[in-house]
Amino acid sequence: MSNYSIGIDLGGTKILAGVIDTETGEVIESDKKRTKAEHGRDIIIQRLIDVTEKAICKAQIPVSQIASIGIGAAGQVDRKHGMLISAPNLDCHSVDLKAIMENHFKIPVAVGNDVEVATLGELKFGSGVGYKNFVCIFAGTGIGSGIVQNGQICNGFTGTAGEIGHIIVDSGGRMCTCGGHGCLEAYASRSAIEKTITAALKKGHRSVMSDLVKDKKSIRSKHIKEALDKKDDLVLNCITEAAEYLSSGIASVINFYNPELIILGGGLIEAVDDYYELSVSKALAKALPTATESVKITKAKLKDYSGVIGAALLKEYYNNSFNKCSLSAL
Ligand SMILES: [Zn+2]
Repeated sequence: MSNYSIGIDLGGTKILAGVIDTETGEVIESDKKRTKAEHGRDIIIQRLIDVTEKAICKAQIPVSQIASIGIGAAGQVDRKHGMLISAPNLDCHSVDLKAIMENHFKIPVAVGNDVEVATLGELKFGSGVGYKNFVCIFAGTGIGSGIVQNGQICNGFTGTAGEIGHIIVDSGGRMCTCGGHGCLEAYASRSAIEKTITAALKKGHRSVMSDLVKDKKSIRSKHIKEALDKKDDLVLNCITEAAEYLSSGIASVINFYNPELIILGGGLIEAVDDYYELSVSKALAKALPTATESVKITKAKLKDYSGVIGAALLKEYYNNSFNKCSLSAL
C-alpha cells in the first residue's frame, strides 16, 4: 500500500489540496484556489477537481500510487455516505462529494468536517502527539472545535459535537449566524471583530484600519495584526473584548471536559499573537483551579496545514474507526 494520500481543506474562502506522506505527515506538494462559492455548486466542484489535479501534478506522483483522498468540508457531513449535507458558507446542500471525486479520480474518497480533520491532523502529527484527551479550538471566520477522547475524535451522538462557536456566552446577546443569540462566534470570531471595527469606523472612530483596508472588501486577520503593531486603540479594544469572550469559552471547556491539553488554531490565532496570549491568560484565570492545574494550552503546530494533513489520514482513520465503533457513532 502506498504512503501517499491527498488531503483537501474545502473552506468557504479557499480550497487547499496537498499530497501527503501519511507515514510522516510531510506535505509533498500542495495547491490552493479561491473557492468562489458565490458562483455555485458546479464551479466549486470544478475548482475542487482542478486544485487536486494540480497538487498531484506538482508532486509528480502517479495517480496509481495515491491510496486515498480525504476531504474536510466546512459544513455538516454524512461520514458514512461521503455526502456534504449542508454548508452555509459554500451555499451547497446534499452534494455527493465522495461519488463525484471517486468517479473522476478512481481513488477511494472519505469526507469529514473541516474542524474534525484539522483535529485529526494535530492528533497524529501536530501539537496533540502524545496526548489522548484534548480539545482543538479553531478561531477564524467562525469558531469550531474538535474533541479528542481516548485518542479518538468524539463526534457526539449524531455527529455534530464540538460546536463551541455556538455555546452561549451572553444570554439574549448578539444575533448569530445560526439564528440564535449570544453565541461565542458572534463575539470572538474574525467576522465578529470585523463587524465591530466596521461599525465603529462608520460612527467616525479614528483608526489605521481605514487605510489598511481602504480598497478591500473585508478585514483579514493580517490587517488586525498590522493595526495592533501600529498600536491602534480601536483595534486593541476590539481584540481585548473578543479575547474576553474567547477566554470564557476556553475556561468553560476546561471546567466541563477537564482536558490535558487545549490546542488553539485558525487564521486569527495564527496571525494575531496578542489575541492568543490574552485569551490564554484570561482563560487560565477564569477556569476552576483544580482543572487549570493540569491543563496545557498551546498553538496548533501544523498551522494552515492541520486540515490538509488530517484529511489525508481520514480514509484510513474511518476504516479503523468503523471496525471499532458502531456506524451511528461516526
Ligand atoms: Zn450561534
